[in-house]
Amino acid sequence: MILYCGTSNPGKLREFQLAAPDFELRAVDAAVPEEHGATFEETAQAKAEYYSVFAPGWVFADDSGLEVDALGGAPGVHSARFAGPDATDDRNNALLLDRLREVENRAARFVCVIALAQAGRVERTFRGAVEGRILEAPRGSRGFGYDPLFFYQPFGRTFGEATDEQKMRVSHRGQALQSMFDFLRENSR
Ligand code: IMP
Repeated sequence: MILYCGTSNPGKLREFQLAAPDFELRAVDAAVPEEHGATFEETAQAKAEYYSVFAPGWVFADDSGLEVDALGGAPGVHSARFAGPDATDDRNNALLLDRLREVENRAARFVCVIALAQAGRVERTFRGAVEGRILEAPRGSRGFGYDPLFFYQPFGRTFGEATDEQKMRVSHRGQALQSMFDFLRENSR
């Protein structure tokens, strides 16, 4: 089955592709929309609605981010631009470490919501979350975003030290994606 994916993030597309052996994933060819949602659900739905007008059949889009307990859930939906409009992964990570300086509670989670749409209408959303804690210095250079700071206890290492395959088996994105695949397999017979 061909499935279209609305994302301009190469890190995400790489991870999506890994988890989709029986689906052929194609990126939607469209300009990147502004993100305005107040929640992951709102933003994912707006993106899926938008992208689904530019491709035939099922189109999915995700919104994801990092919630840090000691920061009241920030950066949350603002994860990509935490350090401002010109944010880079390095700047976001540096700001996060700064905000958590001398903070003991390092609990955090990655959250991902995927919205599935067709012809401008959202059919369903799927949510995944994975718990971890924020280290005091980055470790590893794999993955993207906050991965080098996100320590995942069951692995005994950060997502930045895990391979894409390992991360995808347990991650927020992997969970949401598998739920969507289950839905599509059940509903496309
Ligand atoms: P989005 O494109 O609005 O979903 O932006 C998500 C942002 O959250 C990314 O740019 C990263 O900063 C962060 N993020 C989401 N998922 C991950 C992940 O799996 N690893 C590291 N950072 C992530």
